[in-house]
Amino acid sequence: MECLELDGSRGEGGGQILRTALSLSMITGTPFAIERIRAGRKKPGLLRQHLTAVQAAAAVCGAEVEGAVAGSQQLRFTPGPVRGGDYRHAIGSAGSSTLVLQTVLPALWFADGPSTLRVSGGTHNPAAPPADFLIRSWQPLLRRMGVTLDIQLLRHGFYPAGGGEVLAATAPVAAWQPLRLNTRGDLRRQAAVGVVAGVPAEVAKREMQRAAGQLGVLDEELRVLPSNEGPGNVLMLVLDYPEVSEVFTAFGERGVPAEVVADRAAREARLFRASGAPVGEYLADQLLLPMALAGQGSLTTTVLSSHLRTNCEVIEAFLPVRFSFEPLEQQVRVSVA
Ligand code: ATP
Repeated sequence: MECLELDGSRGEGGGQILRTALSLSMITGTPFAIERIRAGRKKPGLLRQHLTAVQAAAAVCGAEVEGAVAGSQQLRFTPGPVRGGDYRHAIGSAGSSTLVLQTVLPALWFADGPSTLRVSGGTHNPAAPPADFLIRSWQPLLRRMGVTLDIQLLRHGFYPAGGGEVLAATAPVAAWQPLRLNTRGDLRRQAAVGVVAGVPAEVAKREMQRAAGQLGVLDEELRVLPSNEGPGNVLMLVLDYPEVSEVFTAFGERGVPAEVVADRAAREARLFRASGAPVGEYLADQLLLPMALAGQGSLTTTVLSSHLRTNCEVIEAFLPVRFSFEPLEQQVRVSVA
């Protein structure tokens, strides 16, 4: 099959181009070559997280790979057939284990049997979906689309120590159901999940209290982890609607008061509540690929980010689908057919 040539500097020039290409190369059997990997980032090329994604992808389909070394800005990937099985990968740093999971899972939905996939590394990283986001927000929507999926957070891992672990069990999809997520219904429940490891519980309590002051009544879930799982502190605000759950995240930082951390997450949650859209910016990114795999679907989100547009372009390069964008008042409808 002809090799697809991709330019990793497109759009914001991030790692998503590579991850989406890996998933779709495995699913369609199309080889690809990519240049200028992550050219838009401060440290371009393959970091540990991307390298693990490449290795994990190669393991499930017996791919031939050239250029899979740390820092490489070029890669050639020739996939073989995707095989179900029990896979285990270690990022070996606090790189995001959830992004590795999201790269390989789609291929396993087209495998010849069920699989488990275990990835160790960071589970709660800035600029990546926290494991709780996958479990509470992404997974239920995938299940609605006909995907068998059970993601478990086995151990938390924070930057810079890492050492966390996620485990996913999945199976080939028998029949895809298109996702149509254009309304969300009335807010049913708000929750704050405050997590501390090697940080006083008081910090998470202050964050949750502050968030309640900003958002109104919320259920509180305090997780005090053993200090050897840290140091780390994250606040996740969960908004449950009949059609969707969204999660807004902020990380504790040395020298930043708990109240400021809470305000960051609460601001995002408030903007989302006010937008009326069912899908936030990040969740939209993460639903595009499954939506395209189902062959059709639509979602209504808050903004049309350059990240999202670039991801659509990569998907269109591999699959016979087209995305369209319809601006609505304070929202955008993204459709695929
Ligand atoms: P890098 O270039 O360093 O690899 P990246 O470019 O791969 O980073 P992005 O392309 O920005 O990173 O992709 C990050 C992914 O993480 C996107 O799918 C985005 O939706 C998701 N994400 C980022 N922040 C959050 C968050 N707070 N909650 C949920 N998901 C998030």
